Amino acid sequence: MITGTTKLLGVIGDPIEHSLSPVMHNAAIASLGVDYVYLPLPVKSENLAAAIAGFAAIGLKGFNITIPHKQAIMPLLSEVSEVAKIVGAVNTVYPGLKGWGGTNTDVEGFIAPLQAYQRDWSQTKAVILGYGGAARAVVVGCTQLGCTEIDVVGRNQAKLTQFQQSWVDLTLGVKIHIHTWEQLPELTPQADFLINTTPVGMYPQVEQSPLEAEIMQGLPQGAIAYDLIYTPNPTKFLRQAQQQGAIAIDGLEMLVQQGAAALKIWLGQTPPVDIMGESLRKHLGLI
Ligand code: NAP
Repeated sequence: MITGTTKLLGVIGDPIEHSLSPVMHNAAIASLGVDYVYLPLPVKSENLAAAIAGFAAIGLKGFNITIPHKQAIMPLLSEVSEVAKIVGAVNTVYPGLKGWGGTNTDVEGFIAPLQAYQRDWSQTKAVILGYGGAARAVVVGCTQLGCTEIDVVGRNQAKLTQFQQSWVDLTLGVKIHIHTWEQLPELTPQADFLINTTPVGMYPQVEQSPLEAEIMQGLPQGAIAYDLIYTPNPTKFLRQAQQQGAIAIDGLEMLVQQGAAALKIWLGQTPPVDIMGESLRKHLGLI
């Protein structure tokens, strides 16, 4: 129940109507029995600075950030975590000592579902499809797991080179190799860990996959295929990979885990990850 004492959390973006975060965060809040509510907060780019000043004025306890504000918010914060600086984006804001502090929980969210699998990550060949914002969190996640060399595949040579260059001055200790889409047939048979960070196959283009069926057939036995897309669930990419005997991880797991990591920062309590996942699966009609 919302009362006079209820504390506010939320997510800002433009548009914000599609966000699944209110569903899972309010399910977690109800399960924990804490006096909070999590709201969708539509904020246009030109109002970003005014909005976060207003959030401070009304004592918001924290908020998530989605498109298009993940980079734009960074100079407006009084502290930004190391991981958010390396990823180049903030998705979670909390009240800091002198003003708003920001971090990025996508890396933690990406890694969490992988903890269940025993691998020698230093010997694992990670192949990332795409070089956008999510791919940056995936690169950092792979290095945190222990990967030392990462292959990134993209369709634009100039953007690939730019992506590769962007890691040179960072002390991550990882080597990024870049490849065009045409090189996938040679790359896939070595890909122990194949991650789709492109939107190819996302609803409503549910019959698309970033990989043609014949190329996916080259995937090694026991590989992990991870798709950051959460609708449809599973994607065609994951169905193809499962047919090759791969372990499939869907984007819903990452979405839930990045949300849980944010909630833990705000509440200082361990969030009910299973309930958050179940609320989303119900909301999306998957169960
Ligand atoms: P983004 O910054 O726009 O990057 C998209 C990337 O995909 C770019 O490298 C783009 O390359 C590439 N791409 C787009 N269409 C392509 C195509 N037809 N063929 C080949 N490459 C293509 O987007 P993002 O923020 O990284 O998000 C990417 C996906 O991850 C989305 O589906 C998003 O929903 C998902 N995501 C999920 C989570 C989660 O928690 N599960 C979190 C973040 C993101 P070009 O620049 O050459 O177009």
